[in-house]
Formats: sequence, C-alpha cells, structure tokens
Amino acid sequence: MSFKKLNIIPPILKALEDKNYTQPTSIQKQAIPLILEGNDVLGCAQTGTGKTAAFAIPVIQHINETTPSKESRPKIRSLIVTPTRELAIQIEENIQKYGKYTNVKHAVIFGGVKQSQQVDKLKEGVHILVATPGRLLDLMDQGYISLKNIELFVLDEADRMLDMGFINDIKKLLRLLPVKRQSLFFSATMPENILNLSKEILNKPQKVEV
Ligand code: AMP
Repeated sequence: MSFKKLNIIPPILKALEDKNYTQPTSIQKQAIPLILEGNDVLGCAQTGTGKTAAFAIPVIQHINETTPSKESRPKIRSLIVTPTRELAIQIEENIQKYGKYTNVKHAVIFGGVKQSQQVDKLKEGVHILVATPGRLLDLMDQGYISLKNIELFVLDEADRMLDMGFINDIKKLLRLLPVKRQSLFFSATMPENILNLSKEILNKPQKVEV
C-alpha cells in the first residue's frame, strides 16, 4: 500500500518522497481516508506510530484543496490543540515538512515566551494554527484569534491534556468553536473520562486504533 493509493495530492506526495517515507503506517492507512472523507475520528495511538502525519496530512490537504487561488488574508480554518510546547513545535515542524509544496500557511503558539512574535505571525494570516491551551485562550481574549472560521479541529494527546489539568480550558474552547465542523480526537489511552470528553467533541466518530 502506497501513499498514492490513499488519494494524497501530488505536492504532499512529493514532500513525503523527500522524507523517504515509502509506506504509510497503520494509523495513517486507517485514519487518512476517513479524515479526507470528512468523518470525525477517534484515534487511539501513542507517539511513535506516525499519528502526527495521520492527522497533519489530511488537514493540509483539505485546506490546500479548498483555499481560493485569490485570497486576501488567510483565515484560521484548522486548529490543532496539544498539551505541551514541545509537541506543538513538533506538530508545526511536521506541517511545514509535509506542506512545503503547498500554499498552506501555518503558525504555532505556546506559553512561556513573549507573545509579540506569535502575534506578528498571526497578523500575517494563517490557515492552520497549532496551539497549547493557555496561550490560545489568552490570545483569543486579547482579540488576536477568532475561531469562527474553524472547519477542522484536532485535539491531540487528550489524556495528557487532562492529566495536566487543562479540562476547563478545553471546555471553554469547545463553547467557542463552530458547531458545524470536523473534529479529530487522539489519545494514547481511552479511560472513561477521556471517552466522555470525546463524546462532547465528536459527532458519529469513526474509530481507529493501533
Ligand atoms: P509520531 O508518532 O507522529 O511522533 O511519528 C513518529 C516518527 O515516525 C516521526 O519521526 C515521523 O517523522 C516518522 N514517520 C511518520 N510517518 C512515517 C512513515 N509513513 N514512514 C516512515 N516514517 C514515518
């Protein structure tokens, strides 16, 4: 099974070739077609399984395929929330690599550093925003980020998110997201509290597991 069989567009295939990825991993084979078809997805996968590409590739593809050729200023149409700064940086690096031959604009925001550079990047306009919860809510409160155009929401490492005490931030965020959206939910473990949270976020999810 090749990436081409998963209906991935040529600019992303080319970037995958540059990285010498010859075959999709199990989670990629399962998740990419479901996401491209527009389904909500509940993914049970650890780091190391290729799960970042499993959601990043279809997110980049969806945005690239639906961005008008003449666009004034990109709007945030996909939001990826993850618990730590390290994960946020890694995810954005992945988006950069897989999306390098597309026109998709992206940014990453996280706490513990000055906000000015992050705000400048947001002002240029981005399609995909990777964020940790605290800085996201902070910049939203300050009016630098609007969620009203979000089409695709990704919650990554949901179990760690709850372990780190982000539940109230996530609930606040959910109240501000458009109801009509596609949502992807990834967690390494699926205890009851995580499943309950997933039910608040997902609509008729397809399950994928590795
Ligand atoms: P992740 O689970 O997203 O942290 O990915 C684990 C590692 O696998 C990362 O270094 C990825 O760059 C790499 N990777 C992801 N997909 C593939 C693939 N299809 N073939 C080879 N390596 C991959």
